Amino acid sequence: MAQSTETTDWVSRFADEVIEESERRAPGKPVVVASGLSPSGPIHLGNLREVMTPHLVADEIRRRGRRVRHLISWDDYDRFRKVPQGIDGVDGSWAEHIGKPLTSVPAPRGSAHPNWSEHFKAAMTEALAGLGVEFDGISQTAQYTSGVYREQILHAIRHRGEIDAILDQYRTKKAPAKKPQKPLDEAELEAAEGSGAAAEDDGSSGTAGYFPYKPYCGNCEKDLTTVTSYVDDTTELSYTCTACGFAETVRLNEFNRGKLVWKVDWPMRWAYEGVVFEPSGVDHSSPGSSFQVGGQIVGIFGGKQPIGPMYAFVGISGMAKMSSSKGGVPTPGDALKIMEPQLLRWLYARRRPNQSFKIAFDQEIQRLYDEWDKLDAKVAEGSALPADVAAHSRAVGTAGGELPRTPRPLPYRTLASVADITAGHEDQALRILGELDPENPITTLDEARPRYDRAEAWINHHVPADQRTVVREEPDAELLKSLDEASRQSLRLLLDGLAENWSLDGLTHLVYGVPKVQAGFPADATPKELPPEIKTAQRTFFALLYHLLVGRDTGPRLPTLLLAVGQDRVRTLLGE
Ligand SMILES: [Zn+2]
Repeated sequence: MAQSTETTDWVSRFADEVIEESERRAPGKPVVVASGLSPSGPIHLGNLREVMTPHLVADEIRRRGRRVRHLISWDDYDRFRKVPQGIDGVDGSWAEHIGKPLTSVPAPRGSAHPNWSEHFKAAMTEALAGLGVEFDGISQTAQYTSGVYREQILHAIRHRGEIDAILDQYRTKKAPAKKPQKPLDEAELEAAEGSGAAAEDDGSSGTAGYFPYKPYCGNCEKDLTTVTSYVDDTTELSYTCTACGFAETVRLNEFNRGKLVWKVDWPMRWAYEGVVFEPSGVDHSSPGSSFQVGGQIVGIFGGKQPIGPMYAFVGISGMAKMSSSKGGVPTPGDALKIMEPQLLRWLYARRRPNQSFKIAFDQEIQRLYDEWDKLDAKVAEGSALPADVAAHSRAVGTAGGELPRTPRPLPYRTLASVADITAGHEDQALRILGELDPENPITTLDEARPRYDRAEAWINHHVPADQRTVVREEPDAELLKSLDEASRQSLRLLLDGLAENWSLDGLTHLVYGVPKVQAGFPADATPKELPPEIKTAQRTFFALLYHLLVGRDTGPRLPTLLLAVGQDRVRTLLGE
C-alpha cells in the first residue's frame, strides 16, 4: 500500500476535514465523496476536475486505511437539451429527441453502445480507468426508473410548500446554471449548453401549484409535461403533455417515469447517499446557486450539505490546432493520448482546487514533461520538498498501487523530435534512441513506451505542419558555397568530432564546444571563463547547422536532431 502523506498538502488537509466530518455524521461508516457528470455529449476535459478533486481526497483517505466510496452520479436521466455540433454519426434529425431522457436518445450512428448517454459515458469510464480512478458509478436513470427514490420523491412532494418557500427567496434574482464546471470560452459554449438543466432546474408552477417533480410523457417520452392535479392522500397525479397532447393519471407510489427537478434532486441525493464531500465549479458561490439552495433544502430530507469547495476552471492551451471534427471539445481521453496518466494526475494534485491551470496540447507540454522528470529525479534522490513529494506520490499511483510506468522514461521532447523526424519508421526511431546512451542502449521501442506513443501522437495530431521538422534531401549547395572561412572551420571541427561523440551527451558537448575551440578556449571551458561573445558565436553556429540540416532557423535540440538525421547524412548535408 502506498504511503500516506498526512498534512503535507491540500489533499491531506481536506482528508483530515472530511474524515472528521464523516465520523461526526456517521460514526464507523465508510466516508462518502461524490462527483456528478452529465453524459449529454463528449465529457469535456475541463470537467475532469469534478472527478479528480474528490478522487484525490478519497485516495488519501484510502491510503490511511479507511473505507471510502467515491460516487460518480451519471446524470443520464436529465433531458436531452440540444443536439451538440460536430459529433460523428449525428445529424439534425436528433433534434426530434429533445426533451427525452439521455438514456432514451439513440447513440450516434455506428456506436457500439445502446443509447446516447452510454456512448459518452463509455469514453469517460475508459479514461478514468486509465487514470486509476476507482469509483462507484450510479446511473440516475437506473435509480429513478427502478423506484429507488420513491420515498424521497413522495417526501419532497409532501414538503413542496417548504421547498417552494426556500426557492422563492431567490426567484427575483437571475437564475444561475446547474453545476457550471468549465471555462466558457467560445469553443466550449456549445458543449456547456448541453450539460445541465439550466432553465427548468427549480420546478414550475402549473395549475397544481409549485411541483418539484416532472413526469416524462407516457406517449412521446418527453418532459414537456404539465402537472394538472395531485392528490396527497392517494398520490394520484394527472399531467398533460404539451408536445403530443397525451394525458394520463398515475399513482406516484407506483410510478417510476419522472424525476425531481435539479435543485431538489441534488440535495435529495446528498441525504440519500450521505455525501460528505462534493466540490463544484466556481459559479456556485453566487446567491441562489444550486449548491447554496441545496444546503437549505437538504435538511428537508434529513441530511446535511457536503463540504463543497469551489474549484477553479481548468483551461486548455493549444486546442485551436485540434481537429474540429469533434466540435473542438477535448476530452480526458484526448489528453491521455498525448500524455501519460501520471502527468495528468500531477497537474491536478499539485494545484489547490481554487487555483486555475491549463492543460497543454501545444509546445508547453514539452516543458511540463521536463518539469515532471526533474521532480521525479529529485524524489528519487530524496531532495524534493514535502508538498512536491506528496503531489508526486498522488501522481504515480493510488492506494491500490503504482500506475504502469514507462520503463525507460526518455525525455518527452527527445521522443517527440525522434517521432517527428522518423515519421512512423520504427526501425529508424529505435536506432536513434539506441544511440542516445551508447553505454546502456535501449534495445526495443517498448522500453520507451507508452511515453514514446504519447509523444508521437502529440507530434502527429497537435503540431502544425509548418512546425514539423523536414530534413533536407540534398545539401544546400548554394549556402555551403557562400560560407566564409570561419564558418567552414566550425563545420570542420564538428565533422571531425562526430564519430567519437556520437551519443546525446557527446554531441551536446561537441556542439557547444566548437565555438569555444574556434575562439581559442578549451571545449570544456565554463561560461565564467568565457567572454560573452561566445554566446553569439554559438547562436550563429546553431542557426547555420539548422539551415543546412532542416532549412530553417530553429528545430529540435541539435544533439537530438543530429542523432535523428544519422551520421552519414549529417556528413553529406554539412558538405563533407
Ligand atoms: Zn408526449
